[in-house]
Amino acid sequence: MDKTSEVVRMYDKYVMCTYKRVPFCLEKAKGCKVWDIDGKMYLDFFPGWAVSGIGHCHPIVTGAIAKQAKKLLHVSNNYYSELQGLLAKKIIEESFKGKVFFANSGAEANEAAVKLARRYGHDKGRYQVITMLKSFHGRTLGMIAATGQDKVKKGFEPVPEGFVHIPFNDIEALKEAITDKTAAVMFEPIQCEGGINIASREYMKEVRKICDEKDILMILDEVQTGMGRTGEIFCFKNYGVTPDVMTLAKAIGGGVPIGVCVASEKFQDVLTPGTHASTFGGSPLVSAAALAVFEAIKKEKLLQNTKKQGAYLTKKLNGLKKKYHFIKEIRSMGLVIGVELSIEGETIYSKCLEAGLLINCTQGNILRIMPPMNVTRFEIDKAVSILDKVFAKI
Ligand SMILES: *Cc1c(COP(=O)(O)O)cnc(C)c1O
Repeated sequence: MDKTSEVVRMYDKYVMCTYKRVPFCLEKAKGCKVWDIDGKMYLDFFPGWAVSGIGHCHPIVTGAIAKQAKKLLHVSNNYYSELQGLLAKKIIEESFKGKVFFANSGAEANEAAVKLARRYGHDKGRYQVITMLKSFHGRTLGMIAATGQDKVKKGFEPVPEGFVHIPFNDIEALKEAITDKTAAVMFEPIQCEGGINIASREYMKEVRKICDEKDILMILDEVQTGMGRTGEIFCFKNYGVTPDVMTLAKAIGGGVPIGVCVASEKFQDVLTPGTHASTFGGSPLVSAAALAVFEAIKKEKLLQNTKKQGAYLTKKLNGLKKKYHFIKEIRSMGLVIGVELSIEGETIYSKCLEAGLLINCTQGNILRIMPPMNVTRFEIDKAVSILDKVFAKI
């Protein structure tokens, strides 16, 4: 039996089957390349579900982790840690004036954002959070209620109340949904899991205006779009619109678990001692890793590369669109790329895997392609030629 099959057998026996897994077991990775446990190499154009945004095992990150691991891994959040302070400072300098709360995942970061909004609105009886259809905000009970897709709620009803879903990019729907119970509007500037649906400039500006007028919080879930992936350090910077609260996770840790809720000055002191907490949040280890991610992005000019390679990959994919009638549309911002097909995408995903290219398929017919920010032109050419070969056999 090969090594992969042995691992699969262990999972069958000991790991809860909450994922549709493919029999594919990774052993090591570097940048855009990964190797499975039987020694085969693949190009990773969806590294770690958008976690390894600056590529797998970036040396600046692994170096920082190794160094910190020998010094101090964890401290109680009743004490202070210099690294947590430095990371908070860095995030604020890169985003907007305010303060941050540290958690360990995207769902947790969003929970903090919703708790903050509820607490702010509490004395006025405002608790409802308006979210979007086709959104994705995580898998806690609160966040399956927030997510505007029935598939995540099914079998767990009743889900916590206080969420209302409306169509995305529809300002009239938002105006209609706001009541005297509305505390916040929460959405992803690009719905990634929902199929790479990009907020329009006008929509962002209008939401900001409405939120200001009604004293409602504008919360942006940048768990997947944050940390440079769109060519700006945070996606909202592409719009010239600043949210009241932003959540981060995935790529900010460079591979270690972290979640961040960033609140602007007006809301920075809403959560007070005893109202929210996280045992692991902002530990020295993850703070060191996240600081290293910021350092790598700056040192290696990865925002510039993201814009450049994003434009190049989008152009190449549009070339394929001319060749294959089943490609309906390419949607992209930086290195967040969706290829909408008029056919099922699952088989294309599997065929790419066989051919040595990792991508993702979401919503049944949308290929999600998000290579690391330090991807090269050479790697893009290779990936596109694999896609071309796979498409040719459809
Ligand atoms: C992945 C994701 C989440 C959930 O993050 P977890 O770390 O899995 O809890 C929330 N929002 C968005 C936009 C995501 O992409």
